[in-house]
Amino acid sequence: MSVGYGPVRALRRVSLDVPDGTVVAVLGGNGAGKSTLLRAVSRTLSFQGGALTSGDIHFEGTRVDGLAPDRVVAAGISQVPEGRRVFARMTVADNLRAGALGSTGTRAAKADALRRVHELFPVLAERGTQRAGLLSGGEQQMLAVGRALMASPRLLLLDEPSLGLAPLMAARIADTIREINAQGTSVLLVEQNAALALRLASRAYVLDVGEVALSGPADELAASDEVRRRYLGVV
Ligand code: ATP
Repeated sequence: MSVGYGPVRALRRVSLDVPDGTVVAVLGGNGAGKSTLLRAVSRTLSFQGGALTSGDIHFEGTRVDGLAPDRVVAAGISQVPEGRRVFARMTVADNLRAGALGSTGTRAAKADALRRVHELFPVLAERGTQRAGLLSGGEQQMLAVGRALMASPRLLLLDEPSLGLAPLMAARIADTIREINAQGTSVLLVEQNAALALRLASRAYVLDVGEVALSGPADELAASDEVRRRYLGVV
């Protein structure tokens, strides 16, 4: 696919595959096009003035690049946006409820989703009546992930989940991503923290100024000189 924001070409002929049940990572520096890629899949590009200029996106055999964002959620794809974007003045419980709005699931399915989110993140149950804005950065990231899980997605799009978090909290989020994947949800993970992403993913793509510069099994990329030098800070 290719994506532009007006005259700005943000992605050029990017081709990417998330095999069912896997974690796939997208690495790259600032402005490489990582968020743009997730927005193209979740169809939230137009909110940012962007559009797919060529290519197509398929999910479970269905073409999804013509759908409205809420239909993408209903099709089984949820996004955790960069910067978490929790509804700060709403309670934690209402943030989670908002995540279920796009879901076509039954009442029982939504109750199940809430139980699963509370199991993954007990703090969200403990602090359900508090305003989301009062949570710590790490807890807000948990809430953002929990909110996305309320729609019971089969593919979770994660935009920089470790951004701005202390190492211990980033490691906890990483553990949770592993658990979510183990429960059967595929994950497309965008990260500047390449070390963390390559530990979680089975495959990875490196974006450089809107193009795929490298791709392959995560362990091979983690061992490549270029990735080690440019993204893992190893000299
Ligand atoms: P970061 O980690 O800094 O968010 P990124 O890899 O996610 O970087 P994108 O945010 O996808 O990169 O940006 C890719 C390119 O598209 C950049 O050149 C950026 O300036 C441009 N871009 C992103 N959003 C917009 C927008 N709403 N309007 C115009 N250009 C944009």
